Amino acid sequence: MSEAENRPTNFIRQIIDADLASGKHNSVQTRFPPEPNGFLHIGHAKAICLNFGIAQDYNGLCNLRFDDTNPEKEDIDYVHAIKKDVQWLGFEWAGDIRYSSGYFDELHGFAVELIEKGLAYVCFLNGEETREYRGTLNKPGKNSPYRDTSVEENLALFEKMKNGECQEGECSLRAKIDMSSSFMCLRDPIIYRVRFAHHHQTGDKWCIYPMYDFTHCLSDAIEGITHSICTLEFQDNRRLYDWVIDNVSVPSIPHQYEFSRLNLEYTLMSKRKLNILVEEKLVDGWDDPRMPTIAAFRRRGYTPASLREFAKRIGVTKMENTVEISVLEACIREDLNDNAPRAMAVLEPIKLVIENYPAGKTEALTVKNHPSDESQGTRIVPFSGELYIEAEDFREEANKKYKRLVIDKAVRLRGAYVVTATRCDKDEQGNVTTVYCTYNEDTLGKNPTDGTKPKGVIHWVDVQKSLTATVRLYERLFTVPNPAAETDFHSVMNPESLTVINNARVEPSLANAKAEQAYQFERQGYFCLDNECLDNTSNLVFNRTVGLRDTWAKIAK
Ligand code: ATP
Ligand code: MG
Repeated sequence: MSEAENRPTNFIRQIIDADLASGKHNSVQTRFPPEPNGFLHIGHAKAICLNFGIAQDYNGLCNLRFDDTNPEKEDIDYVHAIKKDVQWLGFEWAGDIRYSSGYFDELHGFAVELIEKGLAYVCFLNGEETREYRGTLNKPGKNSPYRDTSVEENLALFEKMKNGECQEGECSLRAKIDMSSSFMCLRDPIIYRVRFAHHHQTGDKWCIYPMYDFTHCLSDAIEGITHSICTLEFQDNRRLYDWVIDNVSVPSIPHQYEFSRLNLEYTLMSKRKLNILVEEKLVDGWDDPRMPTIAAFRRRGYTPASLREFAKRIGVTKMENTVEISVLEACIREDLNDNAPRAMAVLEPIKLVIENYPAGKTEALTVKNHPSDESQGTRIVPFSGELYIEAEDFREEANKKYKRLVIDKAVRLRGAYVVTATRCDKDEQGNVTTVYCTYNEDTLGKNPTDGTKPKGVIHWVDVQKSLTATVRLYERLFTVPNPAAETDFHSVMNPESLTVINNARVEPSLANAKAEQAYQFERQGYFCLDNECLDNTSNLVFNRTVGLRDTWAKIAK
């Protein structure tokens, strides 16, 4: 398939194709404009793949612009986290990082221009009066008594606002548009307000801050953005976007296009709500692997390619919808099935003693890292007469469907010999603690010569040489598909979203595991070393990325 055929198609790309064909634009410039008020979530990943993906495919450019006009809610730590996430996803922004706050001087100039044209005024209605004057969807608004203040007086008042001579909430600068417009956003929207707040980029230089609707379109115009792509909730605001662009002397004319947000089942998709989970310590930070943030997916072992593939599969439309988690999980499973090296880990160990194995003997078995990808090579796994196997892989008696270890039945130890169970020890509660077996020493890498074939394969680790590890298993953070629809999402949090296993045993090669790089633990699922696990030798911590199969689909039914 040629590269062009591989590209996604969607209505935005069709608009771009038409704009290039008609000569309206010769090149494409997009931007990704996060507000640094939290970590990015997977909804943002969709927007990143869309904006940066378009720039890539059309030989255009995509800016990373921090939309930072709310100093109270923003933080420089979020700026760093967002940059890291965009790069990790595999994208590069054009030139320097941009900040809306970097345009505060120009924006102030544009506001003065509006005042000079008689298109903006300083209004002293308080919050409640402003709301009352605005009217409702069914009732037109009323003109503010400050609407007809002279240009000279407005210029002087705005200067006072800028110089810190007005209180917060005392007054604001409003665009003079139409108090009876059917678009509420055109009823003389506020474009500047007073805030005595320290800003992470501009410090204490400003005590007036521009509003989003005024800032966004003008930042686009300043950067020469051709296609300004955002989510559907800004559809109505496009009228205001265009009004501002039409009424000030902008260096270029951008256009806004809207697509539907990503909603994902069993999670929340809003930085504000995710922040509540973090603040109330309901999760272990923004990158807790149960969170839907990009940083959490990374910590959990998701790959950038799997998130990009997900963005591609869900597509870009104007239709509101909610995506099932299984779509996302399928993307990471397919990636890791092909690419993750295999390893053996026993999550709930019981002992397996091979009674006819020479006492004191140990072997170094060579095992493939991947069943079909030879390029992944092999590794050494130590073997001896005392192993650990999974408690659930042994039963004293079982029917034919149970293809694991049963007394008097044979099973293959992955990458090693065929063994036959003989008896077992139990503790006082009746739990099996040790299983005894015999091994057939002619079965390393081949079937027994007597024609019998073991019914199944189980994984194992060596008792002496294996390492203790903590393993964290994750489930959905919420018990309902749409927690955002609840009056209080706290009531639908899943109390079993995290299970910690402290005494798992893993093969010694995993001492060299690298954080965030998933392994397939044979027969268990995909796991990666936690990126906060700094000391590999004494304290291995593995996070489950995803199970081997979509068991959730079955449970849901
Ligand atoms: P949140 O409510 O989570 O804070 P937001 O839209 O306020 O989301 P921004 O930081 O302003 O967050 O978003 C940056 C860009 O990402 C915007 O263009 C926005 O439209 C897009 N975006 C945000 N959430 C989603 C989503 N769920 N799906 C797709 N795009 C999204
Ligand atoms: Mg926002």
